[in-house]
Amino acid sequence: MFSPGLVVITGPMFSGKSTELIRRLTIANIAKLPVVVYKPARDTRTATQICSRDGCCIAATTVAHPRDMLPLSADARVVGIDEAHFFEDGLPEVAMTLARAGKQVIVAGLNLDFQERPFACIPALLALAEEIVQMHALCTACYERPATRSQRLAGGMEQYQVGDSEYAPRCLVCYRPTT
Ligand SMILES: [Zn+2]
Repeated sequence: MFSPGLVVITGPMFSGKSTELIRRLTIANIAKLPVVVYKPARDTRTATQICSRDGCCIAATTVAHPRDMLPLSADARVVGIDEAHFFEDGLPEVAMTLARAGKQVIVAGLNLDFQERPFACIPALLALAEEIVQMHALCTACYERPATRSQRLAGGMEQYQVGDSEYAPRCLVCYRPTT
C-alpha cells in the first residue's frame, strides 16, 4: 500500500483532498510507518497541523521552501504534503528525490486555479506520479454534476487567495472565469 513513489490527490476546492490525505496518513500511522507531514508557509490558516473540513486534523510542519523537507524527512517512510499548489517551485525535484530514497510521497493540491489555469507545480507532479487520485466536489450551481473547477465569488484577481467563503465548486458547464 505504501510502495515508494509519488501519489497526487487533486481536484477543486471542497472536493475532500485533505480528507483523503489525512485518511491515507492515518493508515500509515496504524501500520506504524514513520510519517512526516508538511504544509507551505503561505497557507496561514494553522501553523502546526493540517485539517480537513470535516474536522480531522493531523500534526504538520510548516516549511517555506520544498528543499527544507529533505533533511526533515530522513527517517520518514511516508511523506504527506498538503496545499502543494502554494509551492511555486522546487517541489517536483524534492518529491522525486524523496521517492527515489524509498519513501511514498503523498501530495494534495489544486490542479487548476480560479481562472482554470494549471496551478503551479501540480501539473508537473501529475506527470511524475505513480498514482493520481482525482477528487470531485458537488457543483453548487446545478447541484447535479460533479464539480471539477473552483469558482471565485469575491476578491481580486491574484492567483493566491486563501479563504473558503470566496470560492464555490463548479462543474464544467456552470463554471465561469472571473472577469
Ligand atoms: Zn453545475
